[in-house]
Amino acid sequence: MWHPAGGQRGRRPSVDGSRRLLTQIHDAVIDGRVSEGFIEHPTLHVYGDYDPATDHITINLPLLRACVIVHEALHRLYPRWSETTVRRRTTQLMLRLTDDDVRTLDARVVAATAATTRKRRARVRGTARSSRRG
Ligand SMILES: [Zn+2]
Repeated sequence: MWHPAGGQRGRRPSVDGSRRLLTQIHDAVIDGRVSEGFIEHPTLHVYGDYDPATDHITINLPLLRACVIVHEALHRLYPRWSETTVRRRTTQLMLRLTDDDVRTLDARVVAATAATTRKRRARVRGTARSSRRG
């Protein structure tokens, strides 16, 4: 399980060490052994999980999207808030969200994202570059 509140900052490995570790992480992303899905937990928001029994990694994309939209929406709603304030309020709100709150918010984000993606694709198709091809 991983939770951003448990993350450490400040002490960073060397650049070479980081590159080596990143290469190892790329190698650990194995086809068929990584999936996305909502992870239920009675008391915690769980962003990801590694199951050693099945050697499978699950990424809780709905929770990640909810966390990102809470943070960025706070920037939109309260542009005068500092980054520190937005981060603090994001953490406070995320701790209060139920699984249903997360699912509902994620569904809203997915719908809004799909609408935006459709509009952007339509705009790209209408450009001079694509017209020359078509
Ligand atoms: Zn921010």
